[in-house]
Formats: sequence, C-alpha cells, structure tokens
Amino acid sequence: MASDIRAKDAAAFEAFLALSKEIGDDILKTQGAGGNTSFKHDGVMWVKASGTWLAHAGARDIMVPVRVAPLVEALRLGEPSAEKATDFIVAELNASGLRPSIETSFHAVLPQAVVAHYHCVNAIALSVLTERDAVIAERMAKLPDLAWAAIPYRRPGTPLAHEIDRVAERRPDVLILYNHGIVVAGETAEEVRGRIARVTAALSVEERAAPPADPAVLAALAEGSDFHVAEDVESHRTALSPASLAAATGGSLYPDHVIFLGTEIGVLSDGETARAYADERRSRNLAVPKMLLAPGHGVLLANELTDGGRVMARCLAEVVSRIPAGASVVYLDPGQEYELTHWEAEQYRQALDRKASRRA
Ligand SMILES: [Zn+2]
Repeated sequence: MASDIRAKDAAAFEAFLALSKEIGDDILKTQGAGGNTSFKHDGVMWVKASGTWLAHAGARDIMVPVRVAPLVEALRLGEPSAEKATDFIVAELNASGLRPSIETSFHAVLPQAVVAHYHCVNAIALSVLTERDAVIAERMAKLPDLAWAAIPYRRPGTPLAHEIDRVAERRPDVLILYNHGIVVAGETAEEVRGRIARVTAALSVEERAAPPADPAVLAALAEGSDFHVAEDVESHRTALSPASLAAATGGSLYPDHVIFLGTEIGVLSDGETARAYADERRSRNLAVPKMLLAPGHGVLLANELTDGGRVMARCLAEVVSRIPAGASVVYLDPGQEYELTHWEAEQYRQALDRKASRRA
C-alpha cells in the first residue's frame, strides 16, 4: 500500500493512518463505515475506500489513491465522473482494488494535506437544532485561532462537495456540516489531532441521563419475531426517555441513519409485541421498520440488520440524548430522504457492509 509515499514520506503517512484509526475507534466520532480521512502528497490524495471502516486503518488496506487536480476540475465543471471519483484512481498504486469514498470530492477541494471527516455525535446534536447558527457560533468562539464555517445540509457526494468548495479557498480549519457531522483539516496528522481534541471539547454536550433498559421485558416483546434485543446496552437510551424518543421519531436527523435504518422507526404501544406490530404493518401493506422502540424498556433491532445498521442504533442514542428536551429540531425533508434512499453509490456501500456482516 502507498508504496511511493512510503519511500518518500513514510512517517507522515503512518501518522495519518494512526490518526485515522484513532478517529475510527471512537464511537462518539465514527460509527461503522461512517467518516473518512485523506492525505495529499505530490498531487495524489489517499482517501478512505467506500464501505471500509476507519478503525481498520493500518491493519487493512483501506486507502485509495486518486489524482486531485483532475477530480477538482471535473467537480467544478459539473461532470458526473466527480460523483464516484473512480476515473481518478491511480490504478498502479491501488493495491486494494476498492472504490474511493462517496465523500472523496470534498476532500479534494480542501487545500490542506490532512483532512478528517467524521460523524461527531456532539456536532450532529448541535447542528440539527433550529437555533444551530447561534449555538455553534457561541461554542466555536472558544477557539478564536481556528477558522471555521457552517455548511448547510446537502446530500453527501458532489452536492456537498460544491457547498464546501465555496469556502475551501479560505482554508477553513473546521467545517460544521449541518445534519451530518464535522470536517477538521490541517497540514499534518499531529496538527489535525490537536484541533480535533479542542473542537471536541468545545462542542461537547452533556447526555441526558436515562434509566437502565429492561432486557427481560424486551426479550419477551421480541419472542417469535424477526427482531432481537439490541446487544449494545447504550443503544437502548433512545427508548428510555420521552425527550429522546420524541427527537428520534420526529424525523430523519442525518444521512447514515436514513441509509442504514430507513426513514421510519417503529414504536410499540404498551404491551404490544414485535410480532404483533409487524403483522399489523404487513396487513396494511406497509414496510416493517428495522428498529422498534419499546418506550421505557429499550430497543429491538431487525435480525436482518447489518453490523453497520446495529452501530447506527447506538449513534442515534448518542445523538438524541444530547438534544435538549423540547428543542426545536430541523429534520431532513422528504426530498432529502428520497435522494438518500435512491442512490447507487450508497447501494454499493451497503452491499459491502452486508458482505462484511456475512464474513463476521
Ligand atoms: Zn459523512
């Protein structure tokens, strides 16, 4: 992997991989295949491959080399090739044979050598609030030496890259992506690591306390259905406080939720089993949601869910327990949900996720 870089600038590339793994290992920053990092060197950008996990950086070949200048040019000309960026892969260096991340084009337009994008649960929780402009400005004012910008929600891929391109020339250190996450950039992995630590502290939101889940009740509700009790105990918080439940069921908050869990979360009425709920949905020719909330008890997940989907249940719990009770929230609109669920590049990412789940 990265053979030409290893010869010339091996230490910087290794430091970049180490940073990538750190981001990937932190559940409050990265959930499953979400997030991506990049490293530019001599006109080539190494970017995380679509569907791979940052947590595997260093252990597996997850970085794909792409040529920066022609990709940026294609994006600015509105050419469709900028969407998947596969035309810009440096084939002779691409040992993995993987495809670059669907978010590659925005990494390319940012001039900094190291760019880290991740789905920080604090950044998501703040950036879905109707009051987000003021709330985030107040937080970022604690870091006056960092240049930052807020980026309105756009579908990941070229629409988001165009939006980021509008501010890229100003070399922002931090971008807050509304209803999505965060980007932190710098010239070295060390510089980006330091900025990530400071921004994480500045944006940190205290979680709402929740009572424990009730595994026995949940197991009884799942009995005889295609659902199981969520394994990660922290995932249950979505159903354990009325404020969190309301925030989660009010609409779709960010892209990966829609992509992995769908646009609807089921809520069981008191005493209703998952099987009864699913039967009732099918009798009305309605799809059965992949995640069911049993208010006050916890979360049930569809057996068909992939590893990527299960970790998204945890992400949702982390996000909604950081949204203040009763806060006004900006959800994705139906058009934005539709473009996420009808998107070829995403179908590729999910297919990789299903393959990985089968192997595990
Ligand atoms: Zn993202």
